Amino acid sequence: MMKDLKGKTAIVTGGARGIGKTLVTALASEGCHVLVSDIDGEGARRTAKETAGMGVETLAVQGDVSNAPDVEAMIDQCIETFGRIDILVNNAGITRDNLLMRMKEDDWDLVLKVNLKGAFLCTKQVVRSMMRQRSGKIVNIASVVGVMGNAGQANYAASKAGLIGFTKSVAKEVASKNIQVNAVAPGFIQTDMTEKLTSEVKETYMNHIPARMFGNPEDVAAAVIFLASSSSNYITGQVLHVDGGLVM
Ligand code: NAP
Repeated sequence: MMKDLKGKTAIVTGGARGIGKTLVTALASEGCHVLVSDIDGEGARRTAKETAGMGVETLAVQGDVSNAPDVEAMIDQCIETFGRIDILVNNAGITRDNLLMRMKEDDWDLVLKVNLKGAFLCTKQVVRSMMRQRSGKIVNIASVVGVMGNAGQANYAASKAGLIGFTKSVAKEVASKNIQVNAVAPGFIQTDMTEKLTSEVKETYMNHIPARMFGNPEDVAAAVIFLASSSSNYITGQVLHVDGGLVM
């Protein structure tokens, strides 16, 4: 248990379900107050309710990470409610898979907008107050696909590779202000996002995973908790793979 997260304030985007939902409960169980943001407001409220009895405050906010006014409103609500932001987890992400030849321009634009511009908007807003308080942790949820590529996911892989470049650049800009910016690159994690894949695709993945098993959201949460805690204060600009050895 890393007790130093007690009383800290975290924002998790895309917290209604999947990995984001698990991140919210994991941070809350470490004693963090959490703002749960999601485009699905009702889902965000459901997640927030799950932390009842953990002795922390949670706030659900509906909003689209790729929409600047929504992001501004979310950050304002966080500051109003909790007074500060110690941790930002850019988790909201989508897929619109297709082979390049069939990929629609709209599907390219939307994936880049949510996965990459979304992280830019949230980080920009949050860094302002982290600079003032001279401390902060930003964790971007990338993907192994951003490192190794994946047929049928050119838009998604480009967005996640972009997110890794973004992570390293911002890490360099804010390191002297005691703000650490890192990425977690999950491999195949069992969520609604991967549930949609065909059994053929799942089998191909499994054959390439040295650990011979898929991960679960708790595996990702353990890495995020580490990167959000003071145990990782001298680590910045890194990509931590949580993938059973898929990429090494
Ligand atoms: P998920 O189950 O689809 O959950 C994503 C959440 O983000 C959903 O609640 C979704 O709401 C929300 N969201 C979508 N667009 C949004 C927007 N514009 N603004 C705010 N929220 C938005 O996905 P997941 O599997 O938990 O993935 C979470 C993150 O991990 C993503 O960044 C993903 O790329 C990454 N990742 C996942 C895996 C995996 O194996 N699952 C592997 C590598 C990386 P709606 O449901 O209403 O769309």
